[in-house]
Amino acid sequence: MKMLIEGQPADAQGSDVIPVANPATGETVDSVPKGTREDARRAIDAAAAAFKVWSEKPSIERSRVLFKIAEVVRSNVEGLATTLTLEQGKPLGESRGEINSFANTCEYYAGLIGRERGAQTPFSTGEGFFIVMKRPLGVVGAILPWNFPVSLMGWKVAPGLAAGNTFVVKPASTTPMTDIMVAGLMVKAGLTPGAVNVVTGPGAVVGEELLDNPKVAKIAFTGETVTGKRIMEGSAKHIKRLTLELGGSDPMIVCDDADLALAVEGAAWGRFRNCGQSCTSVKRLFLFEAIADEFVKAFAEKVKTIKIGNGMDKGTHMGPVHTEEQREKVESMVDDAENRGAKELVKGGRPDGAGLEKGNYLSPTVLTDVGYDAQIAREECFGPALPIFVVKDLEEAIERANDTSFGLGSSVWTKDMERAYHAAERMQAGTTWVNSPPIARAEVPFGGFKQSGFGRELGIEGLDHYYETKSVQVLEYGKGKKWAFPIS
Ligand code: NDP
Repeated sequence: MKMLIEGQPADAQGSDVIPVANPATGETVDSVPKGTREDARRAIDAAAAAFKVWSEKPSIERSRVLFKIAEVVRSNVEGLATTLTLEQGKPLGESRGEINSFANTCEYYAGLIGRERGAQTPFSTGEGFFIVMKRPLGVVGAILPWNFPVSLMGWKVAPGLAAGNTFVVKPASTTPMTDIMVAGLMVKAGLTPGAVNVVTGPGAVVGEELLDNPKVAKIAFTGETVTGKRIMEGSAKHIKRLTLELGGSDPMIVCDDADLALAVEGAAWGRFRNCGQSCTSVKRLFLFEAIADEFVKAFAEKVKTIKIGNGMDKGTHMGPVHTEEQREKVESMVDDAENRGAKELVKGGRPDGAGLEKGNYLSPTVLTDVGYDAQIAREECFGPALPIFVVKDLEEAIERANDTSFGLGSSVWTKDMERAYHAAERMQAGTTWVNSPPIARAEVPFGGFKQSGFGRELGIEGLDHYYETKSVQVLEYGKGKKWAFPIS
């Protein structure tokens, strides 16, 4: 598969390629060009040229194109979802959901653009008035991770295009294909060629060019916190605008009055969807003492029913871990916890079984008696392993939940809304879900506290991150002349 530059399939300068592996079988699905800095520059120039056209279009035209993109993407859902499962590993049903969520995001911003309101405000001194104007930024570099390659591209390009910006997308090297296909469909739907370009290649090459190049006004990044720190450093040279969506170690608190059956489902959904590889996966579970035994028993039963397999097979609940490296990281966190005294309530490990030999499969692990000093309690565990902690009350749960350098998501499960509100105010996280697993919605702002990043995606706030705010100050003729020079 080729890259997409100026609306056309494009080869890289050299002939090197990056093979794309299927995490379920280890087989090569296809390959993409190994782009260079020169390829990235070509795409940046195409995006800069397209900006002059796209940003001048009336908002109603940008809105129509975004609605059309959503329609075209939805009508290609099966082909896109299949490619996503083949390159990423998630079950086909989850892939369909991800493609549809890309379309939802486009529709949300297509509906929003052109409906914002501004105001003309008189100066407090009465000599004139000012207008606050929003202007697009220019070319945006969107750097994407592999866990939700398509929906996270939507979180960036949909508000960014709605506001009049253009893009160079740098997908993760292990999941470039569906993004290229979606970008190709965007052009078919009427997007100005060059308004979204996709350049494949190593982050350290293509990504670094996006950081270095003065023609790129903003970097919108989702990925690991350590990479986010590098993105901040690299963007400092030209003071680029930044949105950083980084890692998380999300706590889920189950109170003694919670609907336990619902909370058990929520914990399973929250931890094991996408094989535990969501930024807002439930990564630490806090149970009130009073319900801990009952919850643990029901949860263990539930987890044992999770069917592991190839995401292409009907009936698969959980696919493989995305890469071998990622699988080893999760295993080493489980080992570390056990070496510190944790017990396996549900025993994980590499599953046996026909068809599972060559994939990066890992069964769900649930740990109890976990020390707060264990890696799995302190760092982000990006895979199907969950530590359980028992707490005496809400205050202890909140204190423990906040004892992390991350602050992306969190949840509290209770029938008492006063209790829920109390927890939501105090939990240091960009989102608190109440009686709900972590589901991002186009209309709700999403982002992190602390080292989980800054800026917000989605919602009206997400649109604002693709604008510069400028003021126009107008002095009315004949109204005072207090600014004569020299100043007396
Ligand atoms: P990485 O940070 O490794 O990679 C993310 C992207 O950055 C990839 O496209 C990568 O390219 C690129 N990149 C790597 N180095 C550089 C560089 N020096 N300059 C510019 N770009 C670079 O993250 P993962 O893909 O491994 O994603 C998993 C992580 O992302 C998890 O920690 C997870 O929590 C977090 N995440 C956070 C989310 C949020 O919304 N807060 C959502 C999803 C994930 P290449 O692939 O070529 O290396």
